[in-house]
Amino acid sequence: MPHIGNRQFFLHHLAQTSDAPLLLEIERAEGHYLYDATGKKYLDLISGISVSSLGHRHPKVLEAIHTQLDKYMHLMVYGEVVQSPQVQLAQALGNVLPPQLDNFYFVNSGSEAIEGAMKLARRFTGRSAFVAQINAYHGGTQGALSLMSNEYYSGAYRPLLPNIHFIEADNIDALQNMAEPPAAVVLELIQAERGSFVLSTEYVHAVREFCNRTGALMIVDEIQTGMGRTGTMFAFEQYGIVPDILVLGKALGGGMPMGAFIASKEHMQCLSENPVLGHITTFGGHPVCCAASAAAVNITAENLQHFHITEKEKLFRKHLQHPKIHRVEGMGLLLAAHLDSEQTCKKLILGALNDGIFTDWFLYAPNALRIAPPLSITEDEIVKTCRIIIDLLNK
Ligand code: PMP
Repeated sequence: MPHIGNRQFFLHHLAQTSDAPLLLEIERAEGHYLYDATGKKYLDLISGISVSSLGHRHPKVLEAIHTQLDKYMHLMVYGEVVQSPQVQLAQALGNVLPPQLDNFYFVNSGSEAIEGAMKLARRFTGRSAFVAQINAYHGGTQGALSLMSNEYYSGAYRPLLPNIHFIEADNIDALQNMAEPPAAVVLELIQAERGSFVLSTEYVHAVREFCNRTGALMIVDEIQTGMGRTGTMFAFEQYGIVPDILVLGKALGGGMPMGAFIASKEHMQCLSENPVLGHITTFGGHPVCCAASAAAVNITAENLQHFHITEKEKLFRKHLQHPKIHRVEGMGLLLAAHLDSEQTCKKLILGALNDGIFTDWFLYAPNALRIAPPLSITEDEIVKTCRIIIDLLNK
């Protein structure tokens, strides 16, 4: 191949997902900042879409990775060999989860964890229908895509899984009127891609009661809300419910690829019998990823109080006041500034990049600015960031 610059190579030889990639080339990332080749730094206001919640290259995560690298990397497909990093991760999660969520299936991504959760619900209940929420996002694989109501993104891939019933989040009547009891109700407690839409407590409790009454499993996707982002380790704690299957990803890996679906032993058991190997994954629970993840879970749990997430949310809300900002949605450090138009948002993102802030929009809310920084972002950084945003909106 002829020698061409990285950007040209990226455009020509790496699969493109849109015709307008950001094309920012980052040389290194540390703490709250990304650095390009000229040394210019960018505050990471989105944590690589809710991944780098502990900042980039947290020293304790790096240490855990190095320690594991010196012992072993891949040994065998998931589920056969006892690997201490998997055990340690399960113990770390066990320390911060209610006792009924005591069985852990570690996979490679959020989407794979959703697939596993859906398969588990089908196996446990013997049913095939799912209730999903309009405007939810659960991933890019075909099972996860089946749970997506948005025709623009999912239509081209139909037929997807049958028997998916979409209801408007917060519509308790629609839920109660379901004719057929489903295998599961799947929901995000905060619909992140809708622009951080927070589900009401009444609705989430109604889903819990519906599941209890019909034998459906409650699958809660905390891939974006998990790992401290909303102020508690998991958002479900704030709703006072416990899901039957909890799905994690993104920040779980401390910067390494990790996903997990977590249930009771009684539920999870059915993936190991009749037929056995109910979910097969070669790299799921990779020892280096699990080591990083166990460190990330422990660091998050130990530091959660010191992150002062609720205070930081208040600070963002206080300083993000402008006629072009119609409202700020979300909880904790999973916020969305809904602007007057998509055009304002696109302009703001490019202006912010120029001014050293890396941010983005939302899949279903292209008019909303994504605010999901590392949880350790400082008050000073928040105030400066908001000032830059307001100045850009004034231009
Ligand atoms: N669920 C939610 C709520 C997500 O935000 C995402 C990713 N944006 C996924 C599932 C899918 O995760 P992944 O991209 O790791 O497959």
